[in-house]
Amino acid sequence: MREIERRIIFATGNEGKMKEIRLILEDLGLEILSMKEAGIQAEIREDGSSFEENAVIKARAVMELSGSIVLADDSGLEVDYLNKEPGIYSARYLGEDTSYHVKNRSLIDRLEGVPDEKRTARFVCAIAAALPDGRVLTTRRTMEGIIGYEERGEGGFGYDPIFYLPEYGCSTAELSMEKKNELSHRGKALRAMKEMLREALELREEEREE
Ligand code: IMP
Repeated sequence: MREIERRIIFATGNEGKMKEIRLILEDLGLEILSMKEAGIQAEIREDGSSFEENAVIKARAVMELSGSIVLADDSGLEVDYLNKEPGIYSARYLGEDTSYHVKNRSLIDRLEGVPDEKRTARFVCAIAAALPDGRVLTTRRTMEGIIGYEERGEGGFGYDPIFYLPEYGCSTAELSMEKKNELSHRGKALRAMKEMLREALELREEEREE
């Protein structure tokens, strides 16, 4: 591999995510940098119509700026009873600066009187990899649950306090970080992407040896 390909930039400004990402990708043996660490500054308009499209837009834009392999993710919450809202607008739901306490209360209120079996929801995570040779890889994974009746738990972030896992009898805000990484949409998508990347990068090396 060329020197530039020994590193991967993850297109996020979120340090919490970087921690999780480094932990999962560390055995790839590549250097994993945040945009800040790579010295890349970019305002990218996420105007795609799906999680995958948004992840690809981000990964491509940063790959073009850096010439490195770039990974990007896009994630959100789909509530079936609300026609999969807030979906790709999860971060922007009720406004970017509105607290998650308010966003969470709003979803609970909109599901008032709705029975358990109709409260199904999922977290979705799409991850895209943009390679300097123009190849783009994408993966999507989900975590299924139901929207609870109250906020529970202090861990996690965002919509975790209202996302209830019936088989574990708790919300995702009540899981340890290790358990959440094991079960979560993002953890699963990252592990799947790691395997795709391993294959894609090894393939290139084999091609060169011939
Ligand atoms: P982004 O992918 O960082 O843009 O996040 C999209 C939105 O989905 C944010 O509003 C998050 O709060 C929400 N979200 C994504 N993953 C999770 C999660 O694991 N727990 C809680 N909220 C999440």
